[in-house]
Amino acid sequence: MNELSHLTGFSRDELTSFVKGLGMPRFRADQIFRGIHERRLTSFDQMTDLPKALREQLKQSAAIQSLTVESKYVSSDGTRRFLMKTADGRPVEAVFIPTENRDTICFSSQSGCALKCDFCLTAKLGLLRSLSAGEIVEQIITVLNDVYGEGGETPHGTNLVAMGAGEPFLNFENLIKALEIMSDEQGLFIVPGRVTVSTAGIVPKINEFAKLERRPNLAISLSAANDELRDKLMPINKRWNLDELLTSAKSFEKTLKRGERFTFEYVLLGGVNDTDGHARELADLLKKYDLRRVKINLIPHNPADQLGYHPSTAEQVKRFKELLESSGVSAYVRTPRGRDIYAACGQLAAKSEPNLVQIAGV
Ligand code: SF4
Repeated sequence: MNELSHLTGFSRDELTSFVKGLGMPRFRADQIFRGIHERRLTSFDQMTDLPKALREQLKQSAAIQSLTVESKYVSSDGTRRFLMKTADGRPVEAVFIPTENRDTICFSSQSGCALKCDFCLTAKLGLLRSLSAGEIVEQIITVLNDVYGEGGETPHGTNLVAMGAGEPFLNFENLIKALEIMSDEQGLFIVPGRVTVSTAGIVPKINEFAKLERRPNLAISLSAANDELRDKLMPINKRWNLDELLTSAKSFEKTLKRGERFTFEYVLLGGVNDTDGHARELADLLKKYDLRRVKINLIPHNPADQLGYHPSTAEQVKRFKELLESSGVSAYVRTPRGRDIYAACGQLAAKSEPNLVQIAGV
């Protein structure tokens, strides 16, 4: 960003040091923090509670916005999907999913992804780079401003899911910093209980995450209950196999507070991992590791022809869920949203890359 400090990624303490460095009194830091995160302003000119000379001074050394919205797709079900670009031209995806009583924003932690999940289009991009804390926070502000107008009141609580492009635990520090900034009560005030971080299974980071005092909810993407299949679908399994992953998950479970649970995500791929045998294998696996405080989120795969997978039939999704439940496992089916706007993880960024458009045959 041309040497400009991206204040959106500054904690309140960092902002205080920054304004002191410019010779301003401390309370200006609080004004600026509220301006960015509570009022969701996108330029210093709008911060009319600051003297004009100060605004000019800020413009010389700092910026609030670094992302630009390249395209936006609005689904018939109200889902909005955003393709943004960083200042250095890297694609970033975010999705807004409205439901009756709450909003969910699915954001990206990285541009592209280094992991090579076989059913994911983002994987085709490879890792372009990790996003800064400011770029993570800015996605949320950009989405809320688009939906509710700049600084407009949000009628529902906002839930966040780190499940867009990238592996959040491979950008651990920036992710945690961004979540801390967003939990500030003088800002967006999205508390950790409203946030879910979804990992493909970076075992050392699950262990580190377990030790955090104020931590978001955890979801682990499983998608197969035997190593042979998981090696193929999620090659990260070759680094940390199911035994290591579920042993770590069991240790994590022991740190849960009363009433808390965590989630395993299971992307259902027609004929690949969705048979009755797979459902029983999954239930047996949870039993083997004595995992009780978990729920399974079944995610019907979004059709993406170029990946060679197809969604499970509605009957098989229902049957898979019932088989898990009959073994005492809580299972939920995530309603597919925004299918008409390429709503599978990574599809939007992938569509913007010319080489992948070719693969897609579009
Ligand atoms: S599913 Fe998630 S972790 Fe796997 S390649 Fe795609 S973005 Fe990366």
